[in-house]
Amino acid sequence: MGEYTNVTEIFGEDVFNDSVMQQRLPKKVYKELKQTILEGKELSLEMADVIAHEMKEWAIEKGATHYTHWFQPLTGVTAEKHDAFITAPLPSGKVLMSFSGKELIKGEPDASSFPSGGLRATFEARGYTAWDCTSPAFVRHDAAGATLCIPTAFCSYTGEALDQKTPLLRSMQAVGTQALRLVRLFGDTTAKRVIPSVGAEQEYFLVSEKMFSKRKDLVFTGRTLFGAMPPKGQEMDDHYLGTIRQRVSAYMKHVNEELWKLGVAAKTQHNEVAPAQHELAPIFAEANVEVDHNQIIMQTLKRVASQHGMKCLLHEKPFAGVNGSGKHNNWSLTTDTGVNLLEPGYTPHENIQFLLILSCVLKAVDRHAELLRESASDVGNDHRLGANEAPPAIVSVFLGDQLTDVMNQLITTGMADHSIESEKLETGVKSIPEFMRDTTDRNRTSPFAFTGNKFEFRMVGSRDSIAPANVVLNTIVAEAFKEACDELEKAEDFSLAVHDLIKKNFTEHQRIVFNGNGYSQEWVEEAERRGLPNLTCMVEAVDALTSDKAVELFEKFGVFTKAELESRQEIKYETYSKAINIEAKTMLDIAGKQIIPAVIKYTRNLADSINAIVSAGVLDVEVQTELLQRTSRLLKETRDAMEHLKTVSDKAHEMEDGRDKAYFYRRQVIPAMDDLRKPVDELEMIVDKAIWPMPSYGDLLFEV
Ligand code: ADP
Ligand code: MG
Repeated sequence: MGEYTNVTEIFGEDVFNDSVMQQRLPKKVYKELKQTILEGKELSLEMADVIAHEMKEWAIEKGATHYTHWFQPLTGVTAEKHDAFITAPLPSGKVLMSFSGKELIKGEPDASSFPSGGLRATFEARGYTAWDCTSPAFVRHDAAGATLCIPTAFCSYTGEALDQKTPLLRSMQAVGTQALRLVRLFGDTTAKRVIPSVGAEQEYFLVSEKMFSKRKDLVFTGRTLFGAMPPKGQEMDDHYLGTIRQRVSAYMKHVNEELWKLGVAAKTQHNEVAPAQHELAPIFAEANVEVDHNQIIMQTLKRVASQHGMKCLLHEKPFAGVNGSGKHNNWSLTTDTGVNLLEPGYTPHENIQFLLILSCVLKAVDRHAELLRESASDVGNDHRLGANEAPPAIVSVFLGDQLTDVMNQLITTGMADHSIESEKLETGVKSIPEFMRDTTDRNRTSPFAFTGNKFEFRMVGSRDSIAPANVVLNTIVAEAFKEACDELEKAEDFSLAVHDLIKKNFTEHQRIVFNGNGYSQEWVEEAERRGLPNLTCMVEAVDALTSDKAVELFEKFGVFTKAELESRQEIKYETYSKAINIEAKTMLDIAGKQIIPAVIKYTRNLADSINAIVSAGVLDVEVQTELLQRTSRLLKETRDAMEHLKTVSDKAHEMEDGRDKAYFYRRQVIPAMDDLRKPVDELEMIVDKAIWPMPSYGDLLFEV
């Protein structure tokens, strides 16, 4: 790639998108495929053959030799199995390149070792991948060459969802159907579909690959399990939105170009709060496309980093005591005619449709706060949610001054007759053009904030898929819409009924609205008084998946069966236990093989120097002796903590998979890990840096 990039030229060049399809497919086929994409009409195998052929020809022109059904099993990342396009050699000894409609539509990866949570016994391990034509296929270029990637859903032999995408598509149907009913009530006769739009802001850390490879904890677990705080952290706030360093700039340029080629509209990039932390945000897209794009973004961030001698850390908390990483999931609902249903307009108090939708969202979030919290639960995210960092584990909604005022007017007087107006921003500098200030300031501490014309759900972890959060959002809002429509469609006096319903929703669910500081202890107490759930860790949150309320909700909208929910729950307990087990084992390994030997070496050096000094006739070795005593004491503490960690993690490991085991890891193993970390971090502050066996936080954070 030359120095200058022509973005419009490269954008989408590796995507089998609408314009490529229009160009390459016979008109009739194109029309039918569009109907399938937009209306879910069934696609004949004959058509699929034509599409597959064109897709293959196009991909081969891009250099592709293989194709893969690209899917998202319940591991949080994507999976793929590659097949070459070649046919069996002909009598002439040559091969042809072929790709049939059947191969496009259906795949059967030997995927029996993906987590299925008991939905598939191994002896009946068939799982199918099925083409999701609503998300475009693309050609990816990497060390493996060029591969045609076909986004697919992944289901069991009996049709149960084994992936993130199937429930997402189901939930999009659910909310789309109910939202369409709702806009019809307000006289919209032209919209044919309502689609959730999502834009996910991705945070990540960059560290030097050289440093990374010297830290077994980063290599095996994605986060540091030991590490004393550097003398300088983020307290100076000089990194946040700071000038981007040249090496990082070159990386970001490369990432953007790769993403643009894949049709991902990477838009903003900046430094984040912590040193070495950055963020990338694309322009929003339809929910299922954005879920795929976010996976592409994560993969691209990682792949490109290695080409620049760096490692991209997507873990939610790579460094204790330093700001962690999350993903802000921006969500709204848009009609196919381009109307954003979350747009309040200048006078929200008069926008009845918006107020109804807003009141339904409040109802949905209040009623299913546990599920929303659960949707963001992930092993790494436990270090953020409910730990010492933003956002809190308590779900609440930030509405801002203007909308809260409208809500309060409705609740108290039954009438909303004005909206707080925006004011001019006065800077006191004549040469700065005046502009109107937003009606509401931002609130960075809220986990679910209304930000102008969308909701921003900020709990999702940086490494996690955004699919579960959107599945929950779509479904809970579908339910509130359904209840509203059921009532309003029968109403004799629509305006009266809608007014009453808005007031009722606001009144009953106002407790979920909180505009204050979400990080404060007062809020924790206030939330408890309001009866809002505070699920401080993943294992507690996962319990919510199979509550009666959750099962009823998801079954009503065909998003999950009870069995599917149970399987997901089981997988999450298992994932949790496995992840903590790996962390515990890694700690023991590092402590035993690297830390203890280093500390012993250091104490031997100390002892030698004490002897030498004394033999030279100097008797004052108080400082050296004290240091030796302190180091030996910490060494013993380390050894004891290791023994304890080993005992509890062995015990945990032997337990049967499931809820009890996960809770045991949470309650016994994690505290034992903390106990081991403490003396080791203290030792790091004492022991000679030349002897310490791995790069420090300072090395990792400030030497990219
Ligand atoms: P903010 O300043 O509120 O963080 P940005 O304009 O930076 O908002 O956008 C953040 C993310 O939200 C981007 O990914 C953007 O594309 C996305 N976004 C903007 N509008 C919408 C919308 N209506 N629906 C969903 N996502 C949106
Ligand atoms: Mg944001």
